[in-house]
Amino acid sequence: MGNVVSCENCFWCSASLGARRRRGTAACERALQHEVGERIHGFTVSQVTDIPELSLTAVKLSHDSTGAKYLHLAREDTNNLFSVQFRTTPLDSTGVPHVLEHTVLCGSQKYPCRDPFFKMLNRSLSTFMNAFTASDYTLYPFSTQNPKDFQNLLSVYLDATFFPCLRELDFWQEGWRLEHENPRDPQTPLTFKGVVFNEMKGAFTDNERIFSQHLQNRLLPDHTYSVISGGHPLCIPDLTWEQLKQFHATHYHPSNARFFTYGNFPLEQHLRQIHEEALSKFEKIKPNTSVPTQKPWDKPREFQITCGPDALAADSSKQTTVGVGFLLPDITDTFEAFTLSLLSSLLISGPNSPFYKALIESGLGTDFSPDVGYNGSTREAYFSVGLQGVAEQDVQAVRDIIDRTIEEVLQKGFEDDQIEALLHKIEIQMKHQSVSFGLTLTSYIAPCWNHDGDPVELLKLGSQVARFRQCLRENPEFLQEKVKQYFKNNPHKLTLSMKPDDKYFEKQAQKETEKLKQKIDCLSPKDKKQIYEKGLELQTQQSKAQDTSCLPALKVSDIEPTIPLTHLEVALAAGETPVQYCAQPTNGVVYFRAFCSLHTLPEELRPYVPLFCSVLTKLGCGLLDYRQQAQQIELKTGGMAASPHVIPDGTHLDVYEQGVLFSSFCLDRNLPDMMQLWSEIFHSPCFEEEEYFRVLVTMSAQELSNGVPDSGHLYAMVRAGRTLTPAGDLQETFSGMDQVKLMKRMMGMSDIGQVLRKLPRITKHVLNRDNMRCSVNATPQQMSLAEKEVEKFVQNVGRSKAEWKPGHLSVVEKPAPSGSSGSTHISGPRVLRKLITDPTFKPHQTKTHFLLPFPVNHVGECVRTAPYTDPDHASLKVLARLMTAKFLHTEIREKGGAYGAGARLGHDGMFTFYSYRDPHSTETLQSFAKAVDWAKAGRFTQQDIDEAKLSVFASVDAPVPPSDRGLDHFLYGLSDELKQVHREQLFAVSHDSLVAVSDKYLGVGRGTRGLALLGPENAKIAKDPSWIVR
Ligand SMILES: [Zn+2]
Repeated sequence: MGNVVSCENCFWCSASLGARRRRGTAACERALQHEVGERIHGFTVSQVTDIPELSLTAVKLSHDSTGAKYLHLAREDTNNLFSVQFRTTPLDSTGVPHVLEHTVLCGSQKYPCRDPFFKMLNRSLSTFMNAFTASDYTLYPFSTQNPKDFQNLLSVYLDATFFPCLRELDFWQEGWRLEHENPRDPQTPLTFKGVVFNEMKGAFTDNERIFSQHLQNRLLPDHTYSVISGGHPLCIPDLTWEQLKQFHATHYHPSNARFFTYGNFPLEQHLRQIHEEALSKFEKIKPNTSVPTQKPWDKPREFQITCGPDALAADSSKQTTVGVGFLLPDITDTFEAFTLSLLSSLLISGPNSPFYKALIESGLGTDFSPDVGYNGSTREAYFSVGLQGVAEQDVQAVRDIIDRTIEEVLQKGFEDDQIEALLHKIEIQMKHQSVSFGLTLTSYIAPCWNHDGDPVELLKLGSQVARFRQCLRENPEFLQEKVKQYFKNNPHKLTLSMKPDDKYFEKQAQKETEKLKQKIDCLSPKDKKQIYEKGLELQTQQSKAQDTSCLPALKVSDIEPTIPLTHLEVALAAGETPVQYCAQPTNGVVYFRAFCSLHTLPEELRPYVPLFCSVLTKLGCGLLDYRQQAQQIELKTGGMAASPHVIPDGTHLDVYEQGVLFSSFCLDRNLPDMMQLWSEIFHSPCFEEEEYFRVLVTMSAQELSNGVPDSGHLYAMVRAGRTLTPAGDLQETFSGMDQVKLMKRMMGMSDIGQVLRKLPRITKHVLNRDNMRCSVNATPQQMSLAEKEVEKFVQNVGRSKAEWKPGHLSVVEKPAPSGSSGSTHISGPRVLRKLITDPTFKPHQTKTHFLLPFPVNHVGECVRTAPYTDPDHASLKVLARLMTAKFLHTEIREKGGAYGAGARLGHDGMFTFYSYRDPHSTETLQSFAKAVDWAKAGRFTQQDIDEAKLSVFASVDAPVPPSDRGLDHFLYGLSDELKQVHREQLFAVSHDSLVAVSDKYLGVGRGTRGLALLGPENAKIAKDPSWIVR
């Protein structure tokens, strides 16, 4: 539920320090006792290093008889992580590493049941489980806080990766196969099917992905980076089962493996298990998987490619993307790589950077081109910069600007403040704690370690920053010289442009048909008969009840019966504004949030709230113009942001709170400066820079529409819930397809000023203290200063100038639980929340089809059920997991070929079915109905229920970082007592209650439902008048 501001794709942002402390021996001290040369369970220690800036101790080892590499990072963090990484360097685009990544999860020697990952999701309290195929490695990570769970998952991961069954039918299911459209009817035409085949078809509808893929392929054309490791839809059907097995034998071998563990569990235990269960069964081989260095070019190159048209584009004549890429040195040179990643940030990040000023503010495009900046995921890194949303005739202008900007940087260098802001960012992000630090670390070191770079060097961020400062001191031209060497005088330079082709999807489909014909033409009657029989066999196998008893499992009794209490103190600032204080080990960082309720906002302004939020901290305030404001935010804070929120009430489906959440964090020493910035933003926000406002609107509109193919199921789900509750309607306005369309419309407006002039009208409803509550998470030592600063801030904030005009909405005042209402962990006065209800609202059914030129569908169906405090809510929550794991996954993913499908219950009481990148649409809706019949008939066991409960508790008990503790109370009015009651309701869910809620809410004619589909033309739906096509 938390939402602290941070930038994406940045390692430092997710860095976390000293999460939940556990009593006993400190993990780091224990790890420091290891000695170089020490032999433990077949491994030898080669290095022990303390890394104080990240509060961890690194122990490097290697396995004696196989040469497997091992890195352990000991740290006082209970969210322990394991990963194993294989160097997978394919030389064709059949997607062999990707198909293998999927197929090893179809069963192994010790655990011969299909999909052990999905099955383990319900038998474990894991906080993360997944597998990734990168360009040159495949990574299998998991994390958990429970030691027994760790051993269970480790056993499953080791067996899956080293001893998979790799059956032919698994290859057919996960990779590709020829099958009759209806597998039971040999008269229906043969088509391509398979999970990876469909996944990659979906992936290549994403234009940003197409561009980034080509950029890498063409800039590094000599070896593995010239192919698509995930697989190209037209090449995947060339992969054979034999090739897959061969690839496994040579790549998933200990001699080609890197093991990584992180957290406070002891190292010895991990080593013993890995040695005994896997490594001891292998001999050393010479894996021939290394990537040679790219031969540098002697002159620049250029390429043009095409993509599908953007269905949501505001201006169809401006759809070209152009970017320039430069090859950089080997990433195993860690300091050079560190320097170049900093230099890249200076060049492109934020409104004060040269490329932002020159390109974004030129108005020639809508946003940066995809994958802009430093990319260190390949052996030799690269930098790219460019624009998307450009008119074809402006391509040359963009290229000229890029050259000119490099020239300018070469002359002028960077301002000291810019460099300081960047180094400050590294400092605060090393201290800011996320819960997935282990995962962040393994992803951070994977590319460099993969090419035998030193992962420990990479983690010594403190010494890298020090060395960087020293280089700048000794040579003021340090950065300019790098710009000269790697950008100005670099002949290994690629210009890539991509323009839409109206016939793009048609041509792709045509090529697929040709490929299919080619395959079918060479089939003998005997082959065809075999294909039919195998199709049936696959269906039978998929329908067979799975015996999962071989898999290890936790029990419901392994779940903690009670939750730990979070102590909160509420006090009034300026005599009336409630402020919640939560003392936490935040490692020298203060987190300040404010929530302003929007209950007085006129309805016609609602659609503009997301835009208001996204520009509020970016257009300048007080005496600061937008550039100075950005500079101050970067120099003094880890980020300041506003976001719209719709908060459903826990007791009534038709009641909700709407408002804006302001979130921010800073180092202890900068709190007065950060609060001063908030004061200026609240007191005198600036909505005047029309030109820059247009830039911001264009960028967020482009970002929104680029996100649609990848988050289609989320848009379908939000839309499906629109007419079921008043909150659902607002959610669609704030974050649904309506919002995407509104933003796109604004982007095309010639007079953007009319939109800008609406924003101050929102100001008077939101930026005032009448409807405000605040929260602070900081260390106990910091609290009294924080209290003073918040007091000062609140006193500076004005009173509401808005009149409450009731219309057809009414306001319900609701006290949040507090000390005076019997809570043992919250002290201080009550917080009154102003909720909204619409007495005229009646839920009703709608079906919407958003027509989009994708080759796959995203489907959502939503049913109105019960609010959070209703015991039925707990049963429905377990039911959603049960249906996902035991029915929908098999029906829609395994049999139907969709990339994902499931059911979930929102905090708002909406029960939602969804599918993701789905070749089907109406059939999927039938599967949803079948899932309900299945549940009503009670065709599940106590074991199934227990598994669903484990999976629910894995998310209920997901670790919460210190920055976010107490946030449920602050935002939702949820006390720990209420959460404990809900917990007990979850434990009490039974077979009877599951059957009962399936019937009561989900049966035909019961709860009101809404349907939504994002996808291509659909003959069946076009004929059905109950659907609205948009
Ligand atoms: Zn995949």
